[in-house]
Amino acid sequence: MTFDINKIQKDFPALHQEIYKKPLVYLDNAATTQKPQAVIDRIIKYNTYENSNIHRGVHYLSQEATNAFEQARIFIKEYINAAESHEIIFTKGTTESINIIASSFGKKFLNKDDEIIISTMEHHSNLVPWQQLCIENEAHLKVIPINEKGELLIDEFKKLLNEKTKFVALTHISNALGTINPVKKIIEMAHKFDVPVLIDGAQGIPHLKIDVQNLDCDFYCFSGHKVFAPMGSGVLYGKEKWLEKLPPFQFGGEMVENVTFEKTTFNELPFKFEAGTPNVESILGLETALKYISEIGIKNIADYENDLLNYATKELIKIEGLRIIGTAEKKASVISFLIGNIHPYDAGTIIDRMGVAVRTGHHCAQPVLDWFNIPGTVRASFAFYNTKEDVDKLVEAVLQAKKMLE
Ligand code: PLP
Repeated sequence: MTFDINKIQKDFPALHQEIYKKPLVYLDNAATTQKPQAVIDRIIKYNTYENSNIHRGVHYLSQEATNAFEQARIFIKEYINAAESHEIIFTKGTTESINIIASSFGKKFLNKDDEIIISTMEHHSNLVPWQQLCIENEAHLKVIPINEKGELLIDEFKKLLNEKTKFVALTHISNALGTINPVKKIIEMAHKFDVPVLIDGAQGIPHLKIDVQNLDCDFYCFSGHKVFAPMGSGVLYGKEKWLEKLPPFQFGGEMVENVTFEKTTFNELPFKFEAGTPNVESILGLETALKYISEIGIKNIADYENDLLNYATKELIKIEGLRIIGTAEKKASVISFLIGNIHPYDAGTIIDRMGVAVRTGHHCAQPVLDWFNIPGTVRASFAFYNTKEDVDKLVEAVLQAKKMLE
C-alpha cells in the first residue's frame, strides 16, 4: 500500500478533537499511542457479541473466543517471525514480560557473584527488576556506558562480558533519547559467551521491522498500547529452549495440567506462563493493530517517520538556546530537548496550553538523565499519523514557552 497520510489521519478519531479550543497535536507517542477505528471496532465487537472466557468452555461462544485468541497468537508469531506460536506468551505489557523473565530466570539460574548486564539508557522497567534480582541473589549489575550522543560503547560492553555474565537485558530503542541500539551485534557478542539476551522492544515494535529469528534474541518484550493497541496487552517472545527450562512465574488456573492437594503438574507452553484469565479483548485489539500496520507496511512507516524526525530536528535546533539530548547517528521518532535554563515542567505546561501534547520529566529513565546531569527533558515523540504541520505547531509552542519563561 502507498502511504496515504490523509487516510491514516482519518483512521484515528482521537486526533480530531480540540483541547483548550485548539486542535490537538499529539506528540506523546512514546508514552502511549492512539488507536485506529479498526482497533476500537474490534474491542466493541468482542464485548458486544463474543465475550466469553477462553480455553475452558465447550459452548459456542467460548470456542469462538478461544479460536480468535489463538489466531491472534499465530498472527503475532508471524508478525515478529517467531519459529513457533507457543513462543508467544501474552502478558499485560513490557513491564510484566520483563518481570516474568527476571523472576523465572533468577530463580533457576542466578547465583551469588554472577553478573547481569544492562545499559545506561534503560527504562526503569528494564532496570529495577534486574537490580532487585541482583540484590536478592547477591549478584552484580553491570552497566554498559554511553557516549555524549547517547550511543552504547560497544568496546566497553565487550570488556564487561566474562564467564560470570549470566544475562544481558537491553532496550532496542531508548524512550528518553531515541537511540536505536545495535542489538543484533550485542546479541552475537553475548552468545559467544553462551549468555542469553532479552530485548526490551517497547519502543522498537512501533517503528522497526522485528524479526526475532534474524536478531537471534532469546527474549523480546513489547506492550500493545505503544503500537496502537489497547492498554493491558503485551507480548513476551521467548525461544522455546529457554521457555521450556524456566519455571512458571505465577500460579493458578490455565497454567496447570493436573492438580492434587499434594502436587501440581504444569501445562505446556505457552500456557505455563499464562496463569488466570487473560485480557482477551486487548489481545484481539493488538492483533488488529498489527494487521493495520502490516497493511500500511512497516518500511513505509519507518521511511515516513525518519523524514519527520529529520524535519523536526532541523526546525527545533533553529531555536536559540534549544539543546537536543540524544543525538545518536541511528535514531527513531523521539526528540528530547531543553530550552535554555527553563525547567522542562514549566515549558511542557505552556506547550500543552498551545494544544501540543508532549511529555516532560525523566521518562522513567532517571539514570540516563543523571548521566547527562539534567533533571529531565521535554520529549516530543512521533507516530506515523503525525505531520510536518504538527512539527510546526510544536516549534511555535516552544517559541511561545521561551518568550513567556525566559
Ligand atoms: N521499556 C521502554 C523502553 C519503554 O519506553 C516503556 C514505556 O514507556 C516500558 C519499557 C514500559 O512499558 P509498559 O509501561 O507498557 O509496561
